Amino acid sequence: MLEKAQFEIGAADLSQLPPDRGREVAFAGRSNAGKSSAINALTNRRRLAFVSKTPGRTQQINFYALGAGRYLVDLPGYGYARVSGQLQQRWERVLSAYLQRRASLQGLVLIMDIRHPLTPLDRSLLDWFAPTGKPLLVLLTKADKLSRQEAARQLHTVRAGLERSYPGGAHAILFSAVSRQGVEAAKGFVAGLLGGENEAPAEYNPSRQRKAPG
Ligand code: GDP
Repeated sequence: MLEKAQFEIGAADLSQLPPDRGREVAFAGRSNAGKSSAINALTNRRRLAFVSKTPGRTQQINFYALGAGRYLVDLPGYGYARVSGQLQQRWERVLSAYLQRRASLQGLVLIMDIRHPLTPLDRSLLDWFAPTGKPLLVLLTKADKLSRQEAARQLHTVRAGLERSYPGGAHAILFSAVSRQGVEAAKGFVAGLLGGENEAPAEYNPSRQRKAPG
């Protein structure tokens, strides 16, 4: 299903969001964490999401249609140093409102560079999203840049951090757009939240999801 993704609309503001009546899974992360590469890996595309040479450039909420009212949503990367404080504040307002109020939003995939996980802005985002109690998957990406032992240690640290900051239950897995580690598990998470194409959208099943990552 994810391979069918087609860019549909970019919203520069909350007022430009499409009607809130489908099923969507959003992708968030610090600029340059590897979000575009992760989206491209999950959709088997080379350039669906723009892998930027200039981090912080895409300041839009991009909707990719999958058909049957289902969407992948690429949220603007945050925390890029050269973005002005004013712009950053504006995007914090937009992101927090979207994460807290969007009924169509079934769950969130949060991308973190495994070498720089749980930054202060990642924690703000977790604080905004935690009250919704919706499923969250953290992709610790660029795992190919660490040894297996170092990657396992980071995974352990992040899981412990998430237990504190996301009491609703979050999952974290190792991921790499290069080696494709974690791609199938992440696809399973997203597809599970969106439901199958020819059936009524499936309910999220936490016990099933808990086994998938790892
Ligand atoms: P975004 O700003 O979060 O969308 O990040 P991008 O997807 O544009 O990636 C930022 C940089 O990290 C690019 O140079 C990518 O090639 C690189 N990158 C992304 N994912 C991976 C990965 O899994 N492994 C490695 N080694 N590099 C990655």
